Amino acid sequence: MRPFQYDHADTPQAALRAAAARVPADQPSVAAPVQFLAGGTNLIDMMKIDVMRPERVVDINALQETTLGRIETTRTGLRLGALARMAQAAEHPEVKRQYPVIAQSLTLAASQQLRNMASLGGNVLQRTRCPYYRDTSYAECNKRLPGSGCAALRGFNRMHAVLGTSEACIASYPGDFAQALIALDAKVDILGPKGARTIPFANLHRLPGETPHLETVLAPGELIAAFTVAPLPWARRSLYLKVRDRESYEFAVASAAVALDLEGDTVRQARIALGGIGTIPWRAQDAENTLKGKRLDGDAIAAAADAAFAGATPHEHNAFKIPLGKRTLARALRETSMMEL
Ligand code: SF4
Repeated sequence: MRPFQYDHADTPQAALRAAAARVPADQPSVAAPVQFLAGGTNLIDMMKIDVMRPERVVDINALQETTLGRIETTRTGLRLGALARMAQAAEHPEVKRQYPVIAQSLTLAASQQLRNMASLGGNVLQRTRCPYYRDTSYAECNKRLPGSGCAALRGFNRMHAVLGTSEACIASYPGDFAQALIALDAKVDILGPKGARTIPFANLHRLPGETPHLETVLAPGELIAAFTVAPLPWARRSLYLKVRDRESYEFAVASAAVALDLEGDTVRQARIALGGIGTIPWRAQDAENTLKGKRLDGDAIAAAADAAFAGATPHEHNAFKIPLGKRTLARALRETSMMEL
């Protein structure tokens, strides 16, 4: 690991000041010379393998004592502080009861040890597991070295994405919790040198396009403060289904986060986000539209699954993800429809 300066902040303002000290405006936040340290389960990993090279690391764990570390369920909905640990949210009784898709996505996301350490904010910002990105001996990786090419296009791409890909990058987004947030139409509160802002969580991640090194809309020096979910009675009818190569401590090959608002067996509204198959946490809006107003029978489910993958682009080793992704979504829809409110 390269040498770096370690610092810590006791208040959000101090953290923002520390990050603002050396923020070149033209760099993506992941390449910024100052990085915030929370659980460290991804950042330290990336520094050890020399993919991230911050000059200065600002430890923000003291901010757990502020609202950034709290989980609140009130009449106005759910607020998850970005520094709350994954385990805190996964084991929170009200999160489990009212927003099961969130608790399940976090429980299935990592080992207990990692869930105890990793923060919610860090979890949604975790970096891709594309092996060509993580191994600096490969010269071609547009995400790590913009303009260098993409080794995965001609390499082993079984775990790569089939939705949202570009000629520049086909890396899949590795997380689970993000899909749950999208299925519940969550918002994300962001603090930054220019003030606070709130955006739909589904707008946080950027498609790779020609600039795969720009992964989110976060500007350098900006900090995620919290995730909020409006009080949806039908959020209780939500679940996360994850298909992976082994039953524990593994990334999704395909996953689906589903929330259903039903009247009898007719769909008033559906929210669907897919994982393991997209370059970003993937909102399946076409599938949602297909289901609206329909009886949730086998034909409607099959039509929704087809709609979700209509724009998919397979590569040499990952064409299997399209039928697998459809079956994953179909099963998630069936299981969600059987949940009692
Ligand atoms: Fe790099 Fe993306 Fe290609 Fe992987 S898929 S090698 S992250 S450019």
